[in-house]
Amino acid sequence: MPSSSSPSADQVAQDFRALYGTDPDGVWAAPGRVNLIGEHTDYNDGFVMPFALPHTTVAAVARRTDGRLRLHSADMDTGVADLDLDALAPGTDRGWTAYPAGVVWALREAGHPVTGADIHLASTVPTGAGLSSSAALEVVVALALSDLHGLDLPRWKLARLCQRAENVYVGAPTGIMDQTASACCEAGHALFLDTRDLSTRQIPLDLAAEGMRLLVVDTRVQHAHSDGEYGRRRAGCEKGAALLGVDALRDIPYDGLDEALAQLGDEEEVRRLVRHVVTENQRVERVVTLLEAGRTREIGPVLTEGHASLRDDFRVSSPELDLVVDTALTSGALGARMTGGGFGGSAIVLTETTDTDTIKKAVETAFANAGLATPRTFEAVPAQGARKVA
Ligand code: ADP
Ligand code: MG
Repeated sequence: MPSSSSPSADQVAQDFRALYGTDPDGVWAAPGRVNLIGEHTDYNDGFVMPFALPHTTVAAVARRTDGRLRLHSADMDTGVADLDLDALAPGTDRGWTAYPAGVVWALREAGHPVTGADIHLASTVPTGAGLSSSAALEVVVALALSDLHGLDLPRWKLARLCQRAENVYVGAPTGIMDQTASACCEAGHALFLDTRDLSTRQIPLDLAAEGMRLLVVDTRVQHAHSDGEYGRRRAGCEKGAALLGVDALRDIPYDGLDEALAQLGDEEEVRRLVRHVVTENQRVERVVTLLEAGRTREIGPVLTEGHASLRDDFRVSSPELDLVVDTALTSGALGARMTGGGFGGSAIVLTETTDTDTIKKAVETAFANAGLATPRTFEAVPAQGARKVA
C-alpha cells in the first residue's frame, strides 16, 4: 500500500469495468483524517480540529434501478457482495460491507430514493490506525450516491447520515468528527468544528511555510478492547453531565471546572473524564487563537498537554503511543500527542523541518529497543475533503 498517495481514479474505474462488465457513472474520493486537537470531545457537544489526509478511499460507482447493491473492495478478499436494498437491516452484517450498506440504509431511512448501485473501491487510508478509514469509506459512498441520485445533500448532512450508518447499522458509537472531516475539510486548512451545531471554520494551516512539519506516526498496534473502553468513556461522560445537571459536558464553562469537580465529590473516574473534556475544549480554542494569530509554534505545548490529559485523566493512551510522544519530545519535537480514539493507532508530532529525520530515527530506535515493529511515519499536509475525481 503506498503510504501517502491516493489510489488512481483510472485504475479504480478500469477495475470496475473488469469486475462488472460496464463503465462506472463516475469516480469519487474521500480522505482519512488526522485530528490536530480535540479528542473525545465530539460526543460531548464540544470542539474538534481535524484535517484531511492525502490518503483517500476511491470508489467507482454506477447507479442501478433494480433495488440491488453490489459491493467490492480491492483491499478485501471477500469477493462481490450482492445485497437486496429492502433487506438491509441494522446489526445483520458484521463485515466491512456493513459500512457502505449502512450508508444506503441511512439514506433510504431518511427518505432519500436510492435505487441501487454497483460499487468498487480501493483505499490508501490505513485501517484501524486511528486515521478514519471507516469514515472515508462511508463518505465516499454517500457522496457518490447523493450525486448519482440527484439528492444534492449538503456536506454536513452527508456526514450526519454516515455517522448514523456507523452508529446504528455497524453498531460503533462514534461521534461526528470523522465523517465531518472527510466530507468538509479543505486543502491547506484545519477544520474547526463545533459538534453541537455543526458550524465550521476553515483555519489556514501551512506548516511548511513556517519551517515546520506535522508527522503522523502509526504505531501499527491496536488493542483489542478499544470498542468497549470507548463505550465506557462515553457512558462516563454522560453520567458526568447528568450529575452536573447539564445537557453535555460542553456546557461546563472553563472557569466553572473547579466547582464542577468539587460537585462530583468522590466520583473519581467521572471527575477525571470531566476534567479532560473541559480542558480539551479549552485547548482547541487556544490552538485556534494561536493559529489565527500566526503563533503556530506555540501550539506545540498545547498538543503535549492534550496528550497528558488523555493519558492521565481520560486514560486512553497506550505504552506505544506514550513511547512515540516521549521519544519525540526528548528528541526536540515542538509538541506531540496521540490522535484518534486511542488504545493504539497513531500519534502526531509537530517538529521543526530540520529535526524531522532525527525524530523519526529516534522513534524507530525506541520501538526497536522495545521489541516493537517499526512504526509507519509520514508527513501530514492538510488535503481536500471528499470530491468527484472522474
Ligand atoms: P479506522 O476508522 O480508525 O480506520 P475502524 O475500525 O473505525 O478504524 O474502521 C475500519 C474498518 O472499516 C475495517 O475493518 C473495514 O471493515 C472498513 N474499511 C475501511 N477501509 C476499507 C476498505 N478500503 N475496504 C473495505 N473495508 C474497509
Ligand atoms: Mg473509524
